[in-house]
Amino acid sequence: MNSSQFRDAAHAAVEEIIQYYETLPTRPVLSTVSPGYLRPLLPSGPPQTGQPWSAIQPDISRLIMPGLTHWQSPNFMAFFPANASYPSMLGELYSAAFTAPAFNWLCSPAVTELETVVLDWLATLLGLPTCYLSEGEGGGVIQGSASEAIVSVMVAARERIVRRRVEGMAEGSKEKEDATWQLRSRLVALGSDHAHSSTQKAANIAGTRFRSVPAPRASGFRMTASALRRAIEECKADGLEPFYLTATLGTTATCAIDDLAGIAALAADYPDIWIHVDAAYAGAALILPEYQSLTPPLAHFDSFDFNMHKWLLTNFDASCLYVKHRRHLTDALSITPSYLRNEFSDSGLVTDYRDWQIPLGRRFRALKIWFVLRSYGVSGLQAHIKGHIQLGELFHSLVAGRSDILTVLTGPAFALTVLHVNPRRRGGGARRASVTAADHSDPQHEAYLNDFTTDAEAQYLADANAVTKEVYERVNGGGLIYLTSGV
Ligand code: PLP
Repeated sequence: MNSSQFRDAAHAAVEEIIQYYETLPTRPVLSTVSPGYLRPLLPSGPPQTGQPWSAIQPDISRLIMPGLTHWQSPNFMAFFPANASYPSMLGELYSAAFTAPAFNWLCSPAVTELETVVLDWLATLLGLPTCYLSEGEGGGVIQGSASEAIVSVMVAARERIVRRRVEGMAEGSKEKEDATWQLRSRLVALGSDHAHSSTQKAANIAGTRFRSVPAPRASGFRMTASALRRAIEECKADGLEPFYLTATLGTTATCAIDDLAGIAALAADYPDIWIHVDAAYAGAALILPEYQSLTPPLAHFDSFDFNMHKWLLTNFDASCLYVKHRRHLTDALSITPSYLRNEFSDSGLVTDYRDWQIPLGRRFRALKIWFVLRSYGVSGLQAHIKGHIQLGELFHSLVAGRSDILTVLTGPAFALTVLHVNPRRRGGGARRASVTAADHSDPQHEAYLNDFTTDAEAQYLADANAVTKEVYERVNGGGLIYLTSGV
């Protein structure tokens, strides 16, 4: 494709994308294709000779569109938001055009320097403690995902505790090697049982154990400091060494917030535990001043991560990781063979983000964040988040107003309301208009909202789950709205 062909193709593609966005609200949100739909529609291999864009473009609507679930549709209410926007897409376009796997500052100084600046802007916007700004010992880096960020900081945490424990032992000695590997075999990462699965996955990757801290219904699905202390002490009693904790600001299932202030108070007792705050989705709400009372405890922790690509109009991928001491990341992840050395890196005056992440190469992701921040401005982004939270509150009030058929389980929290459909009475007809407001004295219902201890309560839960599943499958089956079920 030459420049003139690119011009025509790009114009046609942009037109099609705009048309796609303008018609999104009227498209069924869920794809209805069956598994394996695509292969029979494609040739057995790529064409021998190149095809013109005029032959390729129609296959977007013919072959690809039927297999798309429309995450940008206003009727997409499943999982979590995964916002995109035109300014962000333009950032992706330029990033693709400039393609430069800028692992070192020297590889493309603008890539590194813009990243440092926009991440400082964002940290300030979110009200993060100043220890996470690049002007001190901390700083931010854009990762591909919150999961990647957790792997990176868990490895940094592992290396930090090992370094501390073997300090003073002779380099290369058997004593040091044995002490390192004995300690490694006892390391345990912690997260509440509502922490995202990425913490457990990171422990698998980092080669450590994982234990969960109970966060039951009775505590609002949040990890309390006392439950955490118990879990830590149990690990120690078992001869294990807790070295890492994920505290969550906005859990995946209910958007609960772990007791950050309580955990901060406990942090000083366990200085070898790296505390990471996973705010993948809900962290975006910190751009509203009314949520910033959540941030002071972060000064007692080691790292914080939130996804621009979930709720702040920046398309995947843009996960913003902040660390209080960048040297812990670079100590763990920096390996510099001769071909990666250069005078600027050696001078110590520049940031080489390859040392803050798993891969070597990296994309120019700061560009799309910069475009989004400038196009919407602070007030535009605040209005975006506030609007969603208000819609969430409206949704919650509508659900709460139908307690004859629905029960709110949690929320509204950061625009998320968790509900179930009231079960029918077993043995026949519908549960007497099920659980109405007056029914809240119903002992089974009360138990449901607390904990399930008796067979009858467990049965109530099973019934509620069954009917909720039936209803959500019907809603999703209709294709117009897409919801997520936890049952
Ligand atoms: N953490 C939380 C709290 C999440 O809700 C999610 C995704 O839903 C993740 C982490 C994983 O995010 P990513 O896809 O960026 O790895």
